[in-house]
Amino acid sequence: MTLTTSAPTASPLATADPAIHRLIQAEQERQSLTLEMIASENHTSHAVMEAVGSCLTNKYCEGYPTKRYYSGCTFYDQVEELAIRRVTELFGCRFANVQPHSGASANTAVFFALLEPGDTYCSVVLSDGGHLTHGSPVNLSGKWFKPVHYPLVYDESRPDFGHVDYDAVRALCLQHKPKLLLCGYSAYPRIIDFPRFRAIADECGALLMADIAHVAGLVAGGSHPSPFPHCHIVTTTTHKTLRGPRGGLIMTNDEELAKKIDKAVFPGTQGGPLMHVIAGKAVCFGEALKPAFKDYARQIVANAKALATELMTRGFRLTSGGTDNHLLVIDLRRTDKELTGKDAAAWLEQAGIIVNKNTVPRDDRSPFITSGVRMGTPALTTRGMKEPQMKQVASLIDQVLRSRGNAQILASVRSEVTNLCRQFPMPVA
Ligand SMILES: *Cc1c(COP(=O)(O)O)cnc(C)c1O
Repeated sequence: MTLTTSAPTASPLATADPAIHRLIQAEQERQSLTLEMIASENHTSHAVMEAVGSCLTNKYCEGYPTKRYYSGCTFYDQVEELAIRRVTELFGCRFANVQPHSGASANTAVFFALLEPGDTYCSVVLSDGGHLTHGSPVNLSGKWFKPVHYPLVYDESRPDFGHVDYDAVRALCLQHKPKLLLCGYSAYPRIIDFPRFRAIADECGALLMADIAHVAGLVAGGSHPSPFPHCHIVTTTTHKTLRGPRGGLIMTNDEELAKKIDKAVFPGTQGGPLMHVIAGKAVCFGEALKPAFKDYARQIVANAKALATELMTRGFRLTSGGTDNHLLVIDLRRTDKELTGKDAAAWLEQAGIIVNKNTVPRDDRSPFITSGVRMGTPALTTRGMKEPQMKQVASLIDQVLRSRGNAQILASVRSEVTNLCRQFPMPVA
């Protein structure tokens, strides 16, 4: 054997497929030199990525631990059991299904388990901060079932402006008698009152489902109240504030519901589980069980509050007037009647600040244009940023949103963003 002193050997991917390798390198650089402020995104750990990139991708494991349809599943059983043990400890519940490929798959499985086609359920409409899978007419949840949407408080003079209108939820549920009452949202900056929802569900004979896709990491870290023991079913993603691999998860305390859900995931709506991703989920749950994750969750919220306060000081209006969690939505109609969410997001992207356009409650613009931008702090917090950086970021956002797209202003913000990113690198552990 000879020792090589030349350049490090190219990775298997670089050798086998330089085109894809180059694109991944370019994306790596994009992520490291931009401010990732999409409220549903995060930077996962290398440990999670190693599990997801492992040989566990090779195996079919249809079924559940010790009840598989294929041979050779010994280690996969242990991986899945460990993932389940960790996540039930993390959320303080009895049963979990870790196989859903995504949040949408998790929700589909729950609907398949609990509803018949045409059944009524109650949820928030997409444009008020709900999710596509909560009854949008273009989604299975809206096509095959009958969603009835409950409102937020739209009256700005009320102290609970922008919150769920719980009295209206109750009235609507008593009127429509839904089988399922759904809480949990994609663009809702306030705490969800699970006990209050449960009281309403009990009164009208509905099962209560919480989709905590967005706040799961805050719940796990103790910075948002837990849906347990109030909710009958809890679904979530694992890749947002929870900071794991892309995936879904369903939890419950009820053994009968757990059995129905297992059947609805497989064979009801999915085939073979993504065991490499389930291993990544197990790693993520292990990370979230460590004390440091509590600090992380707390800092996400502290950062969001700092960002919100500074933006409001600078004259921006936020939906519901602030935030209690990891995200906020700027209602652009209040600062600049001409400025759309679409333009704002495009200018911010030019400046290296990545957000998404978002409808605001009672938006009269389409979901492709919108009157708002949504932003969150999970990814910036992962990079180690704290309140002083949030003040700086608010100032950069302010400059961009008042720039009218001026190229010089955007370029100057872009270079400040690059500097900030270099001071707070993406996770290396
Ligand atoms: C993100 C999200 C989902 C869907 O997750 P996917 O993994 O993209 O399918 C479901 N519900 C809510 C509330 C979400 O925010």
